[in-house]
Amino acid sequence: MGPLAKATGRSRKVALVTDEHVARHCLDPVARSLREAGLAVETIVMPPGEGSKTLAQAGRLYDRMLAAGLDRGSVVVGLGGGVVTDLAGFVAATYMRGIAWIAVSTSLLGQVDASVGGKTGVDHPECKNLIGAFHQPAAVLADVSALATLPDEELRTGLAEVVKHAVIRDAELFDAIEADADAILARRPAVLEDVVTRNVRIKADVVMADEREGGLRRILNYGHTVGHALESLAMESGDRLAGAPVTHGRAVALGMMAEARIAQARNLAPVEVVERQRRLLERFGLPTRLDAPADLGRCLDLMRHDKKAQAGRLRFILPEAVGTVRDVDDVTDDEIRRAVLSLADA
Ligand code: NAD
Repeated sequence: MGPLAKATGRSRKVALVTDEHVARHCLDPVARSLREAGLAVETIVMPPGEGSKTLAQAGRLYDRMLAAGLDRGSVVVGLGGGVVTDLAGFVAATYMRGIAWIAVSTSLLGQVDASVGGKTGVDHPECKNLIGAFHQPAAVLADVSALATLPDEELRTGLAEVVKHAVIRDAELFDAIEADADAILARRPAVLEDVVTRNVRIKADVVMADEREGGLRRILNYGHTVGHALESLAMESGDRLAGAPVTHGRAVALGMMAEARIAQARNLAPVEVVERQRRLLERFGLPTRLDAPADLGRCLDLMRHDKKAQAGRLRFILPEAVGTVRDVDDVTDDEIRRAVLSLADA
């Protein structure tokens, strides 16, 4: 870590940004390594959770960095999950018009998704990830041994994105995670390393082909059109989704089920694809059905107002087979309603 940060910057100062949970488990060795490389480390520990991904928190980081004398040759190191790396990357993108940064990713979602691709940003009170910049990190480090302390629910959130990657792009990965599900849940390091490596490759390939989301990168939204709407709906009405507290991973799992059913109803995907996906998500402890039908009107409304809808037009990524998807923009409200309703009667 230390030598890498030293080689990345042109000055000896580093801002090491993390959150309180991650600080407890991972801060000391990283800070030590930076110091041993001869760097002056300004450590900034913020409260954990999405609530820290704000312009106000970014402002506090700028203040600390300025006071510590970080200049244009300094480096920001984001040590944590997606919240920390999104915020640290955003601060690096904007401090003195942009300085270098390194992502040290400690959550599964961070390792397989958030730290790869150069999207950085903070939330607006009205809309998640509204304010941001594309700013590629100089390096991304992902050590699966950090995942040993990750709470189960956070592991599951990462696994939802792992299943998504396999469905959209990699039938072999799907086979592998089906076969290794127990070892993944037991967090066997060698298996996790293989899973993370394959997922980083998928995300990196997609992003290299389409960094700014003009085309191919949209396939990463599989499950997210319905998933985001269900997540927002759950947050509006008591923070529970399918019988447990709402998490992004739980919402995406349900979103993937609804979107796979749209594909099935169109005869685009055979029922076996939907069923294999369902079994794997359930194996990972992710929900595939709702206890009660969702509010369909509000759900459609939320989808139309998602920042990814273009002029209110919804695009869907629909699976054709495990590993292959199609980008479509002609899904009708009726098809969406039927698929979301099917979540409650499956
Ligand atoms: P997170 O950063 O909030 O981490 C989840 C929780 O796990 C936090 O409480 C954190 O403190 C804790 N944690 C992290 N690593 C730990 C460890 N090793 N041991 C113990 N606890 C640990 O959330 P996340 O799920 O990692 O990321 C979600 C964020 O990522 C969202 O803000 C989302 O918008 C963003 N995201 C960004 C991209 C992108 O392309 N930039 C892609 C996907 C998601």
